[in-house]
Amino acid sequence: MTTRSALISGASIAGPALAFWLSEAGWDVTVVERAERLRTSGYPVDIRGTAIDVVRRMGLHDQIVAEHYRHVPVEVLSPGGRRLSTLDIGRLANDAGRGDVEITRGVLSEILYRTSRDRVGYVFGDSIAALTQTDTGVDVTFNHLPPQTFDVVIGADGIHSNVRSLAFGDESRFIRHLGPYAAIWDLQADDMFASGTGFMYSHPGRTAMVERPADGGAARAFLAFVHPAPGTVNRHDTDEILRTLHDTFAEDRWRTIEIIDTLSRADDVYFDTASQVRMDCSWSSGRVALVGDAAYAPAFLSGQGTSIAIAGAYVLASELVRHDRPEPAFAAYERRLRGEESELGTAHRLQRDIPHQWAAAAPQHQAVRGAMAAAAWACPPAADRAAISRHRSVAIEPGPPVLHALRVSGERRPHRQSGELNAVE
Ligand SMILES: Cc1cc2nc3c(=O)[nH]c(=O)nc-3n(C[C@H](O)[C@H](O)[C@H](O)COP(=O)(O)OP(=O)(O)OC[C@H]3O[C@@H](n4cnc5c(N)ncnc54)[C@H](O)[C@@H]3O)c2cc1C
Repeated sequence: MTTRSALISGASIAGPALAFWLSEAGWDVTVVERAERLRTSGYPVDIRGTAIDVVRRMGLHDQIVAEHYRHVPVEVLSPGGRRLSTLDIGRLANDAGRGDVEITRGVLSEILYRTSRDRVGYVFGDSIAALTQTDTGVDVTFNHLPPQTFDVVIGADGIHSNVRSLAFGDESRFIRHLGPYAAIWDLQADDMFASGTGFMYSHPGRTAMVERPADGGAARAFLAFVHPAPGTVNRHDTDEILRTLHDTFAEDRWRTIEIIDTLSRADDVYFDTASQVRMDCSWSSGRVALVGDAAYAPAFLSGQGTSIAIAGAYVLASELVRHDRPEPAFAAYERRLRGEESELGTAHRLQRDIPHQWAAAAPQHQAVRGAMAAAAWACPPAADRAAISRHRSVAIEPGPPVLHALRVSGERRPHRQSGELNAVE
């Protein structure tokens, strides 16, 4: 049997999860990531629903639980900086009784990367420049690496997916902005906030939050605001991001500007719109397909994007391994994931209204209502959370994963040697 090959664009969550399963089944897998190294930023994300079953099958559940995020109590502040109430975000966001686990995106990405890197060729600091499909493969040119041919190419490169642009067209056809922007980064200044403290300062349409874990880890800043023209700020230009934040939060009487001033020293800044990806067309074209946010982002802070990306990666891998040709595999993957009543359909629905409620909070209730609506946006209501945690719309085969049964050899594939695609790492 010949070894099949996959190129995956993006090393965040969906990319390493897919790489794990395909390499487990004996495929020759390369992951190309535009950033120079694994990205570390991000607030806690949730693992729930089908994704819990998948991480159990990956043998990672215990590790993820051990490294789960422990929120600190967050003080909700008045416009003058006075404490109004305290929020227990951990309880609002999760249902531990149903097995939900909350972990920072950076830590989860690191776990998925570490567990797959010995048998996957990870290439950092590069990106796909062009794709040409033939009957037998996809010819790929890169910005830096020499050209290569792969059996399939998968875009796991987020809401602004490069693979989607190359294979399906301009992102404006697929992205729906919900209104807000979010900026997240770790504060390098150790002494700005004490360990174990958290603050939320909010006005209608803008919120600044800081949480510093009790273990002395870095404080993390989270700023969210409604923008009149979402999608127009250049998210790769730090000066433009800083200008936008300064303009938006200029009237704040708390420490927001002091926090914003730390952004230029941060290692990794996440700055993007809260947007959904909705593709009315198929998620695949020939030998090219999309997974995770690239195909079906339910929107930042829905708490669902990560879980759906993990489940999607598992289903995609199992269908690719089950089928000899990629086209029927991609069709089966899509059938198993799509649908109004699926986890994905529920997540897309949940996110529609909350940003607007948040932006519209009445001025007389601004601090509390603004903060509560911001928290509600981040944490779906308990009934919805329970529905999602119970919800297992993606059928995972009983017994050992089909991927194990179909593994080409009993041995795990070794990491490829330098001089090949992983040379840049
Ligand atoms: C740095 C960062 C911080 C985040 N923080 C949060 C958060 O706090 N809360 C939350 O709910 N969600 C957050 N998200 C989004 C969350 O990770 C996703 O919604 C979800 O986990 C699905 O992941 P994904 O792998 O499909 O996409 P993403 O996590 O968006 O990952 C896409 C990956 O592709 C890479 N990439 C982009 N363009 C290219 C290219 N041209 N070539 C190669 N690689 C490329 C990106 O650098 C990134 O590593 C964050 C994403 C990132 C990248």
